[in-house]
Parts: sequence; C-alpha cells; structure tokens
Amino acid sequence: MKKFIVRTVMTFSLIFISLFAITMFLEYKNKDKLNTQVKVEYKVSDGEIVVPDTPAKVEANYEFSQVFFYSGLAISLASPLLFFKYGGTAVIKKIGFKKKILEAGCFCLLYGVFTEFLIFPKALFSAFYRARLVGLSTASFSDFMGRYFQRSMFYALEMLPIAMIVYIIFIKRKRWYIYVSIILVLIAIGGAYISPYIDEMQNDLESMEDGELKNSILELAKNSGVEDLDIRVVEKSNITNSVNAYMTGIGGSRRIVFWDTTLKLSNKEILAIAAHEMGHYEMNHIQKSITLSVFMTIFLILVSHNIMCKYKGREYRLIDNIPKMLFILNILLVVAAPIETAYSRKMEYAADQFAMEATNDGYTNGSLEIRFIQQNLSPIDVNSLYKWLVYDHPTVKDRIEHSNEFIENMK
Ligand SMILES: [Zn+2]
Repeated sequence: MKKFIVRTVMTFSLIFISLFAITMFLEYKNKDKLNTQVKVEYKVSDGEIVVPDTPAKVEANYEFSQVFFYSGLAISLASPLLFFKYGGTAVIKKIGFKKKILEAGCFCLLYGVFTEFLIFPKALFSAFYRARLVGLSTASFSDFMGRYFQRSMFYALEMLPIAMIVYIIFIKRKRWYIYVSIILVLIAIGGAYISPYIDEMQNDLESMEDGELKNSILELAKNSGVEDLDIRVVEKSNITNSVNAYMTGIGGSRRIVFWDTTLKLSNKEILAIAAHEMGHYEMNHIQKSITLSVFMTIFLILVSHNIMCKYKGREYRLIDNIPKMLFILNILLVVAAPIETAYSRKMEYAADQFAMEATNDGYTNGSLEIRFIQQNLSPIDVNSLYKWLVYDHPTVKDRIEHSNEFIENMK
C-alpha cells in the first residue's frame, strides 16, 4: 500500500509540475494576446454575414484548450496502466476479501480516487486558472474547489454502485458482456430521464419569470408544435461570463434550461437560442444520441472482450486484467469519438435549421455566433483532429456559413 501511495503522489507531483510549467509557458508566450480585448463586429456584406478573423485572445484560449485537452487525454489513457503498474490491483488482492461485494467496492473506490487524483491538476489549470486568466470565469479558488468537490462526490455516488455491479458480473459471469450491456441500456435510459432532477439537486433552477419573453418563447414553441414547454433558468452569472442554454431529460422530464447570463442577450437572440433547443426537443435528439452511444458502447465492449480473449485467453476475467481491459476500452472510445462527434454536429446543424425556419431568421442565428466568440471565446475554426475528437457542435465558421445558406435560399 505504501509503495502504491508514494508512486501515486510522485506521479501527481510530476503531472502538477509539468502542467504548471506548460501553463506558465503558454501564458508567457501569449501575454500580448491575453492583454487584448475581444472585439468582433457583426458585419453583413452583400446580404451575407461576414465570417470574422480570429481575435488574438480567442487564438490564445484555443491554444490553451488544445494543450489541456491532449494532456487530459494522455493522463486518462495512461491511468489504468499506471494503476496496475503502481500496485493498485495488488493492494486489493493482498487484502484478500472474502466477499466479492467488498472487493468490488474497494477496487472501484481506489481506482476512482486514483484517476480523479491524477486528473485534478488538469482541471485546476484549465477550468480554474486558464478560465480566470482569459476572463471566462470569475469564480474564487474556494468557490472552484467547493464546486469541484461537490461534483466529484455526486459523480462518485452515482458511479460507485454501477461500477461495483459491473465488477461483480465481470468477475463472476463468463458472458458478462451480455448482462453489462443490458444494465448499460437501462442506465442510459434511466439516467437521461432523471438527469434533470439531479441537475436540480446540484443547481438552483428557477422557472423562467412570467413576462413578454416567456410568452414569446411559449408562443414560438406552440407554433413549432412543442406543447407544455418547461423553461428554467439557472444562476451562473456569479461564476462565469459565458452564455449557454441546453435541453435535458426525456419524456415527462424534458426541459430547456438557460444560464442567467444568456438572458442579457436581446429578446430576438434568446428566441433564436430557444428555437434551437426546441429543434432538439422536436427531433428527439436526446433519444437519438442515447441510442447511438448505447450501440457504440455495446460494440466497444464486444471488441474489447474479443481482444482480451485473443491475448489473454478465454479465462481473462481476473482482477489483474481489469486495468488492461479499461485501457483497451479507453483507446477504443478515443477511436470511436469521431463517430459520436460527427453525429452530434449533424444534430446541431439540424437544430440550427429548425431554429432558422421557426423564426424565419437566418441573421440572428449567425449573429449569435459572433456573440459566442465574444462571450465564450469560441474559436472561429479548429483543426480537423481537434474537431473530430472534441467538437460536438459545428464550428463558428460552419454555423455562420449555414446561416448564409439559409439567407440565400430565402431570397
Ligand atoms: Zn444544440
């Protein structure tokens, strides 16, 4: 146990120091860009919205994003192998649990804490330090830590029982992949249904205030065929300047949530955002993305099962092989990510189209993108690899071009 802890702390320190050095280097390298103001103008030329040039600060933020994404990816990929190498599984085996449920609980908890611990420096430098540096976040250190800890606890409470069940099935059942697939389907559907309520436990979600804005959103919803729309507002202005809205839940739990920062936009812009979310609502995008990810997960589980059978034999279901299995699954998830992001971008494109048709307005859809550059420091365009791995929304450039197509077709 002592060796495991020492090695883990040393790796944590190494990751912390490396990310600290990288962050300081990037800050120094981009110091002029970081000192600039983001001023992007909404310009229309010959009836078309002009795709703006990337502001210097946005360019700097994009560089940070890429570096943090790839370092996070490397840490996540390496984690299962390091856990095994540092003696994580040996610690569990040495205790010699008589009851499998205790072994499962201890293994999942130890592995979970280990991975969280190694990834923490990335969260600290990216979601806290960088976000404050570029002006996206106004959260204090204690605020950030409090929220981070709360989220991790919630995540552990949700994941631990599931991970334990999967662990026991994996160890005990030869055809574990069938049972695990069934459980994952149930969790995906159940999770999508209850996620708005979990969101409600973690955040203060108020119903949108009655008034002109709410009435026009409800009217738009009615005209677009969306009945009984539940509209909520969550306070975010105390920690961030970014704007955002999202649709969550399935069936009776479906709702649209606006960050309160978004309500500072013009009514026209808020309506365009609401119409986009209604598009997701109407076209059942949550159900579709759940279906895709369920099929993908089952497929990846089967592929990893076959790989393990090939290299470790049919009796590979041993505690020592769990980290190797997790490593293979992590690699497969990265390989499969472009399929999921491409499908998601396709749905976002469809929601934009729905919004422009519902509001009969392509200009606001495009002008919102200019807002996102300003408020969220969204890059105008990104390189292909980053797009395939990360971008579940079309880029600013793609969305403005889509708006222009709509405007052109309206003529
Ligand atoms: Zn969307």
